Amino acid sequence: MAVPVPPLIYRGLAAHRILSTGLAPLVRRCPLPPSRAMAGAPPPAGRPLAFDYLVIGGGSGGLASARRAAEHGARTAVVESNKLGGTCVNVGCVPKKVMWNTAVHAEYIHDHADYGFQTSDVKFNWRTIKEKRDAYVSQLNGIYQNNLNKAKIETINGHATFTSDPEPMLVVNGKSYTAPHILIATGGRPSIPPDSEVPGASLGITSDGFFELEELPGRSVIVGAGYIAVEIAGILSALGSKAALLIRQDKVLRTFDSMISSHCTQELENAGIEVWRYSQVKSVTKTSGGLEVRVMCTAPGRKPTFKTIPDVDCLLWAIGRDPNTEELNLDKLGLQLDEKGHIVVDDFQNTSRKGIYAVGDVCGRALLTPVAIAAGRKLSQRLFEGQEDSKLDYSNIPTVVFSHPPIGTVGLTEEEALVKYGKDNVKTFTTSFTPMYHAVTKRKTKCVMKLVCSGKEEKVVGLHMQGLGCDEMLQGFAVAVKMGATKADFDNTVAIHPTSSEELVTLR
Ligand SMILES: Cc1cc2nc3c(=O)[nH]c(=O)nc-3n(C[C@H](O)[C@H](O)[C@H](O)COP(=O)(O)OP(=O)(O)OC[C@H]3O[C@@H](n4cnc5c(N)ncnc54)[C@H](O)[C@@H]3O)c2cc1C
Repeated sequence: MAVPVPPLIYRGLAAHRILSTGLAPLVRRCPLPPSRAMAGAPPPAGRPLAFDYLVIGGGSGGLASARRAAEHGARTAVVESNKLGGTCVNVGCVPKKVMWNTAVHAEYIHDHADYGFQTSDVKFNWRTIKEKRDAYVSQLNGIYQNNLNKAKIETINGHATFTSDPEPMLVVNGKSYTAPHILIATGGRPSIPPDSEVPGASLGITSDGFFELEELPGRSVIVGAGYIAVEIAGILSALGSKAALLIRQDKVLRTFDSMISSHCTQELENAGIEVWRYSQVKSVTKTSGGLEVRVMCTAPGRKPTFKTIPDVDCLLWAIGRDPNTEELNLDKLGLQLDEKGHIVVDDFQNTSRKGIYAVGDVCGRALLTPVAIAAGRKLSQRLFEGQEDSKLDYSNIPTVVFSHPPIGTVGLTEEEALVKYGKDNVKTFTTSFTPMYHAVTKRKTKCVMKLVCSGKEEKVVGLHMQGLGCDEMLQGFAVAVKMGATKADFDNTVAIHPTSSEELVTLR
């Protein structure tokens, strides 16, 4: 007697959701055997290749979501037009951190004599670290590909665009693909002003170009006040480039707590970076000595003045990022975008079109790798594991800026807390000190810390710091803040001595 095949479901996922996709209701209780997990044989001529989950963008968010989906048995494909790993691995966090580590070496060399080391004739070779960094990134690209292969996720190399078919469909290199669930995780790219706005602007580079530099520029001008501008200016300066940072207002990192914004601006100047306040580039021209950057400075209450920075080897724009939404043909889907072109999503990463989701930088919220990863994984858990409430909580996301010294911050700024809780319900605790590392060094940096507390119970709703070690210090404190720790909880924790972090549990 023939035994009917039971209607199969994804682990924990209601059968109706599968059926509503129109695909055959296949059971996916455990990872598929290799022969079934990949899409395998080509579809009949003219028909699109069908998957359970199509992910556009093999960056932080896309890869994490794809792998989590495949773990739950979904037949998954990732479309990537460039190198696997996306911004973070290729032109973001990873190569940036290598360069920051390099810059930290350069800083410590200044202190070696104070610590009793003779280090005469120290030379730095940019090409050495660039080659090693590039090799490391290539190795990571390979690891990401292996991980996809191991998870039986199909990699489609090429640029995806949506078609105008009634059901969402993608075309990559002339081939069509479809799925009941499609994720857009296409990230963003650095902005650069058009030449029509700033003549000669295209003679400059962006953070992407920074990672292509073959030599340390002798004279560099960085435009922007966000964390990428601060980090790159810090790296170039520490490694020996004469760096100027051009900012439109009087401080960098203006969305951060005011203490951090002021202190970081001061530390940039202490490190020898020229901070050009109230400044905007008006034009750029090429000369025999490099680039000539014409700058307009408009201090409040004063008439604009014009200055020229000659012989610039590297002009770097770090003025923001644009989402990669333009070339996807999203108008064909009728997806809702914001005024900057980011995809509008709800708390569950749903776009305005059923079955189409977006995560990461393309959504324009908390542009950080772990945010893209967490949102991508949560989404897959909802779609393929049946965790209906699975969504990322965007509150209390810890962030580090790899400035010199580094910044760590989580929760509300003092300014945000005042708006949210009112003046009478906010109390702050601050400290400023010179870390013990500098007890014997001529070179000094400071450490500043602030706890923002709310209500009678003094719940810690914000923690902000800049100083040596604050990058590694933050993660643990972020757990405490996320759990709702109060000032008393901090105080009840025995200090670790002698460290800078002990200051956070002894604030008065
Ligand atoms: C200089 C710099 C430093 C940074 N440092 C940090 C840091 O220290 N810590 C941190 O957390 N974050 C950092 N970030 C931010 C971090 O890199 C991003 O938040 C993260 O990479 C976003 O991931 P994503 O998946 O949204 O997009 P991405 O990683 O950008 O991935 C998107 C992918 O989609 C591909 N793609 C785009 N369009 C298409 C298409 N139509 N078809 C196929 N493929 C397409 C792209 O090629 C890309 O690979 C940094 C960013 C920069 C620029």
